[in-house]
Amino acid sequence: MNLRRFCSCGRNSASLSCRDNLLPAEILVNLFCPECRPGSIMEATMLADCGWVLEYDVDRAQAYFTIKGIRSPATPDFVFDAGYLSWQGLAPGDQEVNTRLHQRLAPLIEQDLALYLQSLRSEWVAHVARLKAAGWRKAQAT
Ligand SMILES: [Zn+2]
Repeated sequence: MNLRRFCSCGRNSASLSCRDNLLPAEILVNLFCPECRPGSIMEATMLADCGWVLEYDVDRAQAYFTIKGIRSPATPDFVFDAGYLSWQGLAPGDQEVNTRLHQRLAPLIEQDLALYLQSLRSEWVAHVARLKAAGWRKAQAT
Protein backbone atom coordinates (compact mmCIF):
# COMPACT_ATOMS: atom_id res chain seq x y z
CA MET A 1 0.00 0.00 0.00
CA ASN A 2 1.33 3.42 -0.93
CA LEU A 3 -0.10 6.64 0.27
CA ARG A 4 0.46 10.31 -0.02
CA ARG A 5 0.45 12.43 3.05
CA PHE A 6 0.59 16.19 3.47
CA CYS A 7 2.74 17.67 6.21
CA SER A 8 1.33 19.64 9.11
CA CYS A 9 1.50 23.00 7.32
CA GLY A 10 0.13 21.55 4.10
CA ARG A 11 2.84 23.05 1.88
CA ASN A 12 4.58 19.76 1.16
CA SER A 13 3.73 16.12 0.90
CA ALA A 14 5.45 12.78 0.94
CA SER A 15 4.75 9.39 -0.55
CA LEU A 16 4.82 6.73 2.11
CA SER A 17 4.94 2.99 2.08
CA CYS A 18 3.74 0.52 4.69
CA ARG A 19 5.57 -2.77 4.59
CA ASP A 20 3.19 -5.75 4.64
CA ASN A 21 0.39 -3.28 5.47
CA LEU A 22 1.20 -4.12 9.04
CA LEU A 23 0.73 -0.66 10.51
CA PRO A 24 -2.22 1.56 9.61
CA ALA A 25 -1.25 4.97 8.22
CA GLU A 26 -2.56 6.81 11.29
CA ILE A 27 0.35 5.41 13.30
CA LEU A 28 2.18 8.31 11.69
CA VAL A 29 0.45 10.89 13.85
CA ASN A 30 2.34 13.85 12.42
CA LEU A 31 4.47 14.56 9.41
CA PHE A 32 6.49 17.76 9.37
CA CYS A 33 8.32 19.23 6.40
CA PRO A 34 11.44 21.42 6.81
CA GLU A 35 9.14 24.47 6.93
CA CYS A 36 6.90 23.27 9.75
CA ARG A 37 9.17 20.99 11.74
CA PRO A 38 9.15 21.39 15.51
CA GLY A 39 12.05 23.15 17.19
CA SER A 40 13.05 20.08 19.13
CA ILE A 41 12.79 16.39 18.43
CA MET A 42 11.28 13.96 20.94
CA GLU A 43 13.45 10.97 20.24
CA ALA A 44 11.05 8.52 21.85
CA THR A 45 8.41 9.20 19.21
CA MET A 46 10.07 11.13 16.39
CA LEU A 47 12.57 10.54 13.65
CA ALA A 48 14.26 13.31 11.70
CA ASP A 49 15.46 12.90 8.13
CA CYS A 50 17.02 15.82 6.26
CA GLY A 51 14.72 18.39 7.81
CA TRP A 52 11.57 16.28 7.68
CA VAL A 53 10.21 14.84 10.91
CA LEU A 54 7.99 11.80 11.31
CA GLU A 55 6.11 11.40 14.57
CA TYR A 56 4.78 7.95 15.39
CA ASP A 57 2.27 6.58 17.86
CA VAL A 58 4.82 4.11 19.18
CA ASP A 59 2.45 2.61 21.75
CA ARG A 60 -0.05 1.61 19.10
CA ALA A 61 2.75 0.48 16.79
CA GLN A 62 4.03 -1.70 19.62
CA ALA A 63 0.59 -3.28 20.03
CA TYR A 64 0.54 -4.20 16.32
CA PHE A 65 4.08 -5.58 16.52
CA THR A 66 3.20 -7.68 19.55
CA ILE A 67 0.11 -9.15 17.84
CA LYS A 68 2.15 -9.98 14.74
CA GLY A 69 5.02 -11.48 16.71
CA ILE A 70 7.61 -8.88 15.73
CA ARG A 71 10.14 -8.87 18.51
CA SER A 72 11.93 -5.59 17.90
CA PRO A 73 10.67 -2.74 20.02
CA ALA A 74 8.55 -0.27 18.07
CA THR A 75 10.98 2.63 18.16
CA PRO A 76 10.77 5.35 15.50
CA ASP A 77 14.13 4.15 14.15
CA PHE A 78 12.92 0.59 13.75
CA VAL A 79 9.52 1.49 12.30
CA PHE A 80 11.25 3.70 9.73
CA ASP A 81 14.31 1.59 8.92
CA ALA A 82 12.37 -1.66 8.63
CA GLY A 83 9.98 0.10 6.26
CA TYR A 84 6.80 -0.39 8.27
CA LEU A 85 5.91 3.27 7.81
CA SER A 86 8.52 5.06 5.83
CA TRP A 87 9.22 6.99 2.63
CA GLN A 88 8.15 5.36 -0.56
CA GLY A 89 11.58 5.12 -2.16
CA LEU A 90 14.44 6.86 -0.42
CA ALA A 91 13.08 10.35 0.18
CA PRO A 92 9.68 12.12 0.30
CA GLY A 93 9.67 13.22 -3.35
CA ASP A 94 11.13 10.08 -4.88
CA GLN A 95 7.91 8.95 -6.49
CA GLU A 96 7.61 12.21 -8.48
CA VAL A 97 11.30 12.22 -9.41
CA ASN A 98 10.90 8.74 -10.82
CA THR A 99 7.74 9.63 -12.73
CA ARG A 100 9.33 12.77 -14.20
CA LEU A 101 12.45 10.86 -15.20
CA HIS A 102 10.38 8.26 -17.05
CA GLN A 103 8.35 10.98 -18.77
CA ARG A 104 11.44 12.92 -19.81
CA LEU A 105 13.19 9.90 -21.27
CA ALA A 106 10.09 8.32 -22.83
CA PRO A 107 10.75 9.74 -26.33
CA LEU A 108 13.92 7.66 -26.39
CA ILE A 109 11.99 4.39 -26.17
CA GLU A 110 11.19 4.32 -29.87
CA GLN A 111 14.46 5.87 -30.99
CA ASP A 112 16.89 3.76 -29.02
CA LEU A 113 15.65 1.36 -26.39
CA ALA A 114 19.13 0.41 -25.16
CA LEU A 115 20.00 4.07 -24.67
CA TYR A 116 16.67 4.63 -22.91
CA LEU A 117 17.35 1.85 -20.43
CA GLN A 118 20.92 2.94 -19.92
CA SER A 119 19.90 6.58 -19.36
CA LEU A 120 17.16 5.56 -16.97
CA ARG A 121 19.64 3.59 -14.95
CA SER A 122 22.47 6.12 -14.95
CA GLU A 123 20.18 9.04 -14.09
CA TRP A 124 18.61 7.11 -11.23
CA VAL A 125 22.03 6.11 -9.91
CA ALA A 126 23.03 9.79 -10.00
CA HIS A 127 19.81 10.72 -8.18
CA VAL A 128 20.48 8.15 -5.45
CA ALA A 129 24.07 9.41 -5.12
CA ARG A 130 22.72 12.94 -4.61
CA LEU A 131 20.32 11.73 -1.92
CA LYS A 132 23.11 9.87 -0.24
CA ALA A 133 25.40 12.91 -0.29
CA ALA A 134 22.58 15.06 1.09
CA GLY A 135 22.29 12.68 4.04
CA TRP A 136 18.91 11.04 3.46
CA ARG A 137 18.66 8.14 5.85
CA LYS A 138 17.38 5.43 3.54
CA ALA A 139 19.91 6.40 0.86
CA GLN A 140 22.77 5.68 3.25
CA ALA A 141 21.94 2.00 3.14
CA THR A 142 22.16 1.77 -0.66
ZN1 LIG B 1 5.05 21.56 6.31
